[in-house]
Amino acid sequence: ATGAHVPALVIGTGYGGSVAALRLAQAGVDVHMIEMGMAWDTPGADGKIFCNTLSPDHRSYWLRTRTKAPLNYFLGYPIDKDISRYTGVLDAEEFSGITVYQGRGVGGGSLVNGGMAVTPKRENFAAILPSVNPDEMYDVYYPRANAGLGVGTVDPAWFDSTACYQYARVGRKHAQRSGFPFVFVPDVYDWDYMKQEAAGTVTKSALDGEILYGNNHGKKSLQKTYIAQAKATGKVTVSALHKVTSVAPTAGGGYTVVIEQIDTSGATTATKTVTADKVFFAAGSVGTSKLLVKLKATGVLPDLNDEIGKGWGDNGNVMCGRANHLWDPTGKLQSTIPCGGIDNWAAGGAFAEVAPLPTGIETYASFYLSITNNPHRAQFSWNAATGTVDLNWQTSWKQPAIDMAKTIFDKINAKEGTIYRTDLFGVYKIWGDHLTYHPLGGAVLNKATDNYGRLAGYPGLYVIDGSLIPGNTTVNPFVTITALAERNIEKIIATDL
Ligand code: FAD
Repeated sequence: ATGAHVPALVIGTGYGGSVAALRLAQAGVDVHMIEMGMAWDTPGADGKIFCNTLSPDHRSYWLRTRTKAPLNYFLGYPIDKDISRYTGVLDAEEFSGITVYQGRGVGGGSLVNGGMAVTPKRENFAAILPSVNPDEMYDVYYPRANAGLGVGTVDPAWFDSTACYQYARVGRKHAQRSGFPFVFVPDVYDWDYMKQEAAGTVTKSALDGEILYGNNHGKKSLQKTYIAQAKATGKVTVSALHKVTSVAPTAGGGYTVVIEQIDTSGATTATKTVTADKVFFAAGSVGTSKLLVKLKATGVLPDLNDEIGKGWGDNGNVMCGRANHLWDPTGKLQSTIPCGGIDNWAAGGAFAEVAPLPTGIETYASFYLSITNNPHRAQFSWNAATGTVDLNWQTSWKQPAIDMAKTIFDKINAKEGTIYRTDLFGVYKIWGDHLTYHPLGGAVLNKATDNYGRLAGYPGLYVIDGSLIPGNTTVNPFVTITALAERNIEKIIATDL
């Protein structure tokens, strides 16, 4: 309620925010989490909380009247459709040169993502977070994050026999025939549950096309792990459909936080003001960057340093499909949860997830999300004329990512005598180069903050999400975001409380 005072306020309920809330609560601190998206704890008229990827309804997108599917064409035909405007779970946020997909709701990106839980190779860590001691990360914080998230790996014997991973076995075969290492990728999906889905003994989720707009079963989102544990302490409250718009220093110490309550049409229904001793920015790379850039430029937090908004990258994301021969089908039943990747990072700067195309029909397509070593970095800036925060990414900056992905797929196509699909992202368009799932940076560790996420200039303000990471993690990012948050909050609890 307006006028309330909280010891610790956390903006956002994704990975960084959930780690902060749990560990602060365990240290005895009362925590209030503020989340602009919905709680996602109540079934709709169809008895389900989340809608299916193949039949998106109002629950799919954040405040849109038409879907904006990442794979927006099939067989050359556009697949997007009209929906009613609602505070849906997936935000396709458009900047001038890139669409940034993000989860909206209690659990952040964990509600919509593939659950791929990858710890980067240790030899690559110095390039990811140069100011962080790798020994403490690999000995303590990566293991702690993996345990907290409930990470597991597919049973290799089941993988070899189940129909739902035929597409991944085809991906493995093609990778290996071209001399690329195929690696199993861990995931937070409950692998025993998936086996039961395949056996027909439980309600299907991963085997029923659920993923982008939420999984109703099987996936261990943050609501089931960190946030459940945090709530169980009795010291954490969560306010959904509340959006933080300002954080300003209060005379005499602490911060005044302005929060807008919204309804499911996105309209503001109330404006509340609370005070907090400590504020943790965990609104995600884009959300935290937008807030900090605005607050610095408009004179609310003028002492933030000039690194605010800088160092943003797309984790080198680029997508493509390959057309297989008719004798090499990928299967009409495809688990939405990827479980393998092709590692050509050292030689070619690309790590490609073998991704599903869960259409329910045989597509003869192999589909891939590549994470590449694209060196481009963009910057957020305040646009006073429009009152918005812009990002100066350019579509052409994806070219290095395409070139790196081609180090894998040109070779596989040559070996297999196959070609790229041209019908998945438009008419005669090979590369999905208009988007990212993995925004990173904007308030980089040891630049915009100190080496533990304390914002320069403002004691008691912290950044604890993906905006700390300077643009690339060499693999999917959420395990690194979680592990870094575990490291930073331990230090903050030990020294700042
Ligand atoms: P987020 O998880 O983005 O959480 C930020 C939260 O803050 C959101 O809930 C948001 O609604 C809220 N928020 C924002 N602004 C405000 C505000 N002003 N007030 C209140 N609340 C606010 N990563 C992997 O590692 N493996 C994968 O398999 C994978 N697949 C993905 C698939 C998709 C479709 C997408 C979109 C992402 C995927 N990712 C994956 C990326 C991963 O989900 C993100 O890197 C991760 O969620 C980022 O964590 P975070 O803590 O930085 O922020």
